[in-house]
Amino acid sequence: MAHSPREVKRSRQNVADVRRRLPSMDRLLCHAEAASLIDRYGRERVRAALRAELAQLRSDQRPGSSERVLEACSDQLRREFAPSLRPVFNLTGTVLHTNLGRASLPDGAVSAAAQAFAAPTNLEYDLASGRRGERDDHVRAWLCRLTGAESATVVNNNAAAVLLVANTLARRREVVVSRGELVEIGGSFRIPEIIASAGCRLREIGTTNRTRITDYSSAIGPRTALLLKVHPSNYEIRGFTEGATYAEVAMLARSRGLPFAVDLGSGTLVDLARFGLPREPTVSETITAGADLVTFSGDKLLGGPQAGVIVGRANLVGRINCNPLKRALRLDKARLAALAEILPLYANPDRLCERLPGLRQMKRTEAELEEVGRRLEARVAAALGPAWMVEVRPSWSQIGSGALPIDRLPSRSLDIRPARRGGLMRLAEAFRALPIPVIGRIHEGRLRLDLRCLEDEAAFLAQLPLLRLNR
Ligand SMILES: *Cc1c(COP(=O)(O)O)cnc(C)c1O
Repeated sequence: MAHSPREVKRSRQNVADVRRRLPSMDRLLCHAEAASLIDRYGRERVRAALRAELAQLRSDQRPGSSERVLEACSDQLRREFAPSLRPVFNLTGTVLHTNLGRASLPDGAVSAAAQAFAAPTNLEYDLASGRRGERDDHVRAWLCRLTGAESATVVNNNAAAVLLVANTLARRREVVVSRGELVEIGGSFRIPEIIASAGCRLREIGTTNRTRITDYSSAIGPRTALLLKVHPSNYEIRGFTEGATYAEVAMLARSRGLPFAVDLGSGTLVDLARFGLPREPTVSETITAGADLVTFSGDKLLGGPQAGVIVGRANLVGRINCNPLKRALRLDKARLAALAEILPLYANPDRLCERLPGLRQMKRTEAELEEVGRRLEARVAAALGPAWMVEVRPSWSQIGSGALPIDRLPSRSLDIRPARRGGLMRLAEAFRALPIPVIGRIHEGRLRLDLRCLEDEAAFLAQLPLLRLNR
């Protein structure tokens, strides 16, 4: 649309007025508040924020005092400098949620990790002899004691453990795996791809639902270097099925002079049935059955930091430790310190559930969770207002991270639904926008907040007044 010359003139005048009424960069930088911003964020970022704020005011033709401009910049810089990795409330119902960081560690392990970060440690230094030590020395004895294995080593995660085992024992040769165990764990962990990345050839045997010990024996040839079994952690094949047991494969491997490795995935160190949880094969059972090497994760059911544990025969672990890839995949000092705190907790399984947050949460009963729900229900309803209905309802939580996916734990959740219709996505968004974001899931027209992993109720309630529900 064309403007009359008079309108154009007036608008130019306005722009000039606003410009005159905005503080100059030099004046802003002399302000005491600017000095404190520069101290915190550095001159360059402060200047950039001020420039952007002034440009915005100019283009909106809005005036602004020095104080107002600096305050806006301070908010902007605070957002810019806030780390994006933050604590959240995991109310998804999945206790070991891979996207939310899996196992939470007990205080003792957390402070051991913090100490290792804060000051020098004897990470690879033998205090008795004054000579070089090995970082595995800090956990090897406990891992052997708890699994019955001869030796042990630790790496970045279980994917790294499987990669390292295959690369060390079977590079340029064949790894035999049943077709029923060509697992995808999620993300980018797929057994066939890990085997290929390790420089090995995959020799698939049997069928999806049935693999017999004779399939293993007839697959063994001059290029075979390793028999591998993978625990089907996140699925189950039911019906007309057959598989070779660890003991059968172990016996075959021994008779042919081949190593036998098991990727256990979660790898629990104690029988979970004692806590009323579904059974998983333990590491020591697998060693007893004859596996030469067993690999498992540190941050699944074990309840420790992200790590991959390899336990088994001393000569094989020795070969793994000589592989240059070991250096690339090794565990850092902080996680090693945390793991060294966690392992001794297994010496007394009776107290384990109180000491490991993950197990403690898995063990919470429906009655307990019902009470949590009753305590929160009215407070949440009050914070949300009359547009939302809040109820405590039965739900199912799961252990997660591929651990025992078939078995679900009966739980309770706070279910929130709109009194009329719609707006659920925005409600979920509002919960995620809180200072400690609350992560639930949308299920059957409700926002479902599973209460199993909610332990700090006070912190959860304290931030409810900050919910921004502009419907
Ligand atoms: C979880 C899992 C892995 C991957 O372990 P990360 O520690 O996540 O690397 C590998 N194999 C199995 C069977 C698993 O369950």
